[in-house]
Amino acid sequence: MEKQIPKHDLLIDGNWVPTEQGDYSTIINPATEEPIAYVAAGTEKDVDAATKAAKAALKTWNGITAAERGRILNRLADLMEAHQEEIIRLESLNGGKPVSAVRRQDMPAAIDTMRYYAGWTDKIMGQVIPARTDALTYTVREPVGVVGAIVPWNFPLMIGIWKIAPALACGCTLVVKPAEITPLSIIRIGELALEAGVPPGVLNIVTGKGRIVGDAMVAHPLIDKITFTGSPGVGRGIMEGAASNFKKITLELGGKSANIIFNDADLESAVRGAASGIFFNAGQVCSAGSRILAQRSVYYDVIDRLIERAKKIRIGDTASEDTIMGPLVSQRQFDAVMDYIEVGKREGAALAYGGERVGDKGFYIQPTLFTQVKNEMRISQEEIFGPVACVIPFDTEEEAVAIANGTAFSLAAGVWSRNGTRTNRVAQALKAGTVWVNTYGYTDIRLPWGGTGQSGFGREHGEAAIENFTEPKTIWVNLQER
Ligand code: NAD
Repeated sequence: MEKQIPKHDLLIDGNWVPTEQGDYSTIINPATEEPIAYVAAGTEKDVDAATKAAKAALKTWNGITAAERGRILNRLADLMEAHQEEIIRLESLNGGKPVSAVRRQDMPAAIDTMRYYAGWTDKIMGQVIPARTDALTYTVREPVGVVGAIVPWNFPLMIGIWKIAPALACGCTLVVKPAEITPLSIIRIGELALEAGVPPGVLNIVTGKGRIVGDAMVAHPLIDKITFTGSPGVGRGIMEGAASNFKKITLELGGKSANIIFNDADLESAVRGAASGIFFNAGQVCSAGSRILAQRSVYYDVIDRLIERAKKIRIGDTASEDTIMGPLVSQRQFDAVMDYIEVGKREGAALAYGGERVGDKGFYIQPTLFTQVKNEMRISQEEIFGPVACVIPFDTEEEAVAIANGTAFSLAAGVWSRNGTRTNRVAQALKAGTVWVNTYGYTDIRLPWGGTGQSGFGREHGEAAIENFTEPKTIWVNLQER
């Protein structure tokens, strides 16, 4: 019997509705290239309807106590936990991430994020500021209003929740646009949100193309803030578009992060960290350690160990618990990464391992290592967003820092050494939003996350997100009799 392919509509004002044009796009499993769902292709009119619903729902969402909002978000976290196995499978099927990786990272992080911000709802406070003797002066923090959340395809669930949870906690309402090719987990979250008691209109989901749905959100006068994670090119367009009504924006963009291995590092753990830093999620990670800097005396040792590790990475069926690395997310991403591999060869870097497609179904590429890379090469300057590492030698600490800082990005970096003075000195000198010392790649919702320069601006997570989704209001109460 032929398998029934599910069809998903838009979530607008608490109802699942078809787009006004009735179009759907086909969602595929990148591991098999087979269709797994049809998802509504939203239009400008759909964005308008969702935004108006979100605007109207601000009153309802802020008409209940902060504690009650927290209880609703905790119920949503409970439901995510209760349905986690199903969501893990869905995320893996849609994004090509091995189930084991989603189970270890994305899913627990998403639940943790929802609970963390559920706890914030009744702790978002203003201040009494003693400015005058003739007035009582204080601030309150108000929600910014309607938030447009634009989510990328590399961590559809986790990054989606990084935006949804704090915005809801602050009393904002949302129009969420998942990436066109990976909407399934956030659609499921939309269903669970209704079940948890999130009132109609508070969380709206408009699936569809960036150029249509995303553009319409950026241009919409009733959207007060855009929180965006994605590529620098689209980020620039959003910044320009947001000028139309002076929208507040946060941009989390790309990276070209350096992982610096000194000769006094524990090489085994440094190489383990460096390999997972670039090969985790097939390198489709904004903070991927795509430039591995190794001190010259251990350079060849590091390369040999990296090759050994690359060889052992189990690539394959994303539904299998043993798989370590899945495919790239799409044909487009596969082509872009293969192009960069050709660029690397043309630029004169040495292809030490990988560089080939794996199998003939699914968008799999071997873990790939380029050595003899010069930092000015394109493969060392541009975000490849695939399992491709550049290994670069250095002699001194100063040189390592100069190479690490020598890109337009500044999202993250790693440093490996047994010398604590050195790791602290280098951590201070690195231009990065996050520096990992003797580890790599961890994020925690309690710690600020973001970058500067071509990596964007603003911070997500922790209290920073509360500031993103609220505005302080000053209240000045005259105390003098007139
Ligand atoms: P992308 O910029 O192509 O897409 C991101 C989102 O923007 C998608 O939902 C897409 O549909 C939407 N979009 C596309 N065109 C748009 C437009 N004109 N207006 C509004 N929205 C539009 O990026 P991607 O390929 O999905 O994601 C990969 C990029 O994201 C990489 O550069 C990566 O480094 C970055 N990223 C950054 C972080 C971070 O925290 N800094 C995290 C994950 C990914």
